[in-house]
Amino acid sequence: MELPVAFAGRVVRDLGPEEGAALCAALDGVPPVSVRLHPAKCGDAGALLRRLGACGRVPWCADGHYLTERPQFTFDPAFHAGAYYVQEAASQFVGRLVGDVAGRRVLDLCAAPGGKTTLYASLVGPEGLVVANEIDRRRASVLADNVRKWGTGNVAVTTCEPKALGEFENWFDAVAVDAPCSGEGMFRKDPASRGEWSEGNVRLCAARQDAILREAWRALKPGGRLIYSTCTFNRTEDEEVLEAFAEAAGADAVETAEVPVDPAWGIVCGRAGVFRTYRFFPHRARGEGFFAAVARKSPDAGGRPRRLRSRREVLTAPTRDEVRELSRWLHDAERMRFFRAGDRFYACAAAQEEALHALAGALPVICSGVEMGQIFKGTLKPAHALALSTSLDRGAVATAELAHDEALDYLRRRDVAAHRFAEGMNLVCCGGRPLGWAKR
Ligand code: SAM
Repeated sequence: MELPVAFAGRVVRDLGPEEGAALCAALDGVPPVSVRLHPAKCGDAGALLRRLGACGRVPWCADGHYLTERPQFTFDPAFHAGAYYVQEAASQFVGRLVGDVAGRRVLDLCAAPGGKTTLYASLVGPEGLVVANEIDRRRASVLADNVRKWGTGNVAVTTCEPKALGEFENWFDAVAVDAPCSGEGMFRKDPASRGEWSEGNVRLCAARQDAILREAWRALKPGGRLIYSTCTFNRTEDEEVLEAFAEAAGADAVETAEVPVDPAWGIVCGRAGVFRTYRFFPHRARGEGFFAAVARKSPDAGGRPRRLRSRREVLTAPTRDEVRELSRWLHDAERMRFFRAGDRFYACAAAQEEALHALAGALPVICSGVEMGQIFKGTLKPAHALALSTSLDRGAVATAELAHDEALDYLRRRDVAAHRFAEGMNLVCCGGRPLGWAKR
C-alpha cells in the first residue's frame, strides 16, 4: 500500500524535499528487529544473543540488542520463559527519560501490550511498583500475560479510563503516557496502518491525547516526571499537544535535567514548551518512528497524595499457616507480604502493600504482585505466574529440565517422556529457565 498522499505532502513541506523523500523511502524499507533482555532471567546473555543472531547493542538502552533477522520467537523456549521482550528499539529510549525510579511508583497509563511496562518494571526494581493501565479489556489481558511472563512481581495491571487513575492525585513518582496515536511511525512495520491514517484522525487523536495528559498530570507527585510518547511524526499530536498542555499547567510544569544523547544515535532533540523532545526518524535513527518527551511537575506545585477511601475491602489477610506454606515457595519471603483475593493468594513487596490495597479497593485490578495460586488442604497449588516469577525459590520443588524440542512439546501441551519428571509437582525448565509446572 502506498503512503497516504496527504502524509507524504506534509512530510515534504515540513522537512524539505530531500529529507522528506529520505523519510518516505525509509518507510518503504525493512524494519530492524530488536529485543530487550530480562536482566534477571537472561542467564548467559552472550549465548542467548548468539542464538538469537544479535548484531549490536541498542545504544540508548543497556539491555537492548538488534538482531540480524526476525527469528520465529514462538519456537524459542527462552521467549516463553520471559528471558527477553521483543521490543522495537526506539521505544526503549523511554528508560532514559524516566530517570532513577528504583523503589518508586510509576504509572504507565496506556500500557498494552506491555513493552514499556516491562522496561519500567525492571527499572523500579523489587521494592518499586508499576501500575500498568489499559483501557481496552482484551488488550489488558494480553498486558497481564506479558507482565506475568516478565515475572518481576512489582506490577499491578488495571483496566479503566485514565480518569479513574487521575483520582489517585499526587500519587506517582513518574507517569508515562504512551498515547494512542495516528501511528505514522508504524507505516513501515505495519503497512496496513497506512490505510487507517487520515488528517481527521490526527485531530481526533490530538484531542484524546490532551485529555489523557490532564489525568496523568493529576496523578503525578510534585517533583515527579511526566513522559509523553507517540509513534507518530506530526506536530499536531506531538509538539502542539505538549505546548497547549504546558501552557495550561503554567508554572507547575518545569524542565527536567538534560538527558544525554550522543549525536551519532541520529535522534532529533528539541523543545516544546518546558518539554524536552526526542524524535526518531527511521532514515536517521535505527528504529521505528517514535516521539518522546519529558517534563517535571514543579516540587513547589503543592498537593499531597490523595488518600482514597476503599469502596470495598477486596484483599484479605491469609492465616498464619497459609503464610507459612506460601513463604516456603519464595526465596525472598521475609521482605514480602501475602494477601488473598477470592480463592487466590498473592505476594508483594512489603513496601507496596498499602498501595496495592488502595488500588484494589478503587479500581478493577486484573493482576497484581506475584500470583501464588490456591491452597488446598494446606498445600499450595502453584499458579503458572509463580513458575515465571523471579521470586520463586527454585529449591521448593523438583525441577524437570527439558531439551529444546521437549520444551516446545510441553508448551504445545503435548506429552513429554515421563522419566523427565519426579513424583508430584515439577518446575519445568529449559536451559535452566522455568516455563511452567507439570505433574508426572
Ligand atoms: N505502551 C504500550 C507498549 O509499550 O507496549 C503501547 C501503548 S499503545 C501506543 C496505546 C494504548 O492506549 C493502546 O493499548 C490503546 O488501547 C490505549 N488507548 C486507547 N484509547 C485510550 C484512551 N482514551 N485512554 C487511554 N488509553 C487508550
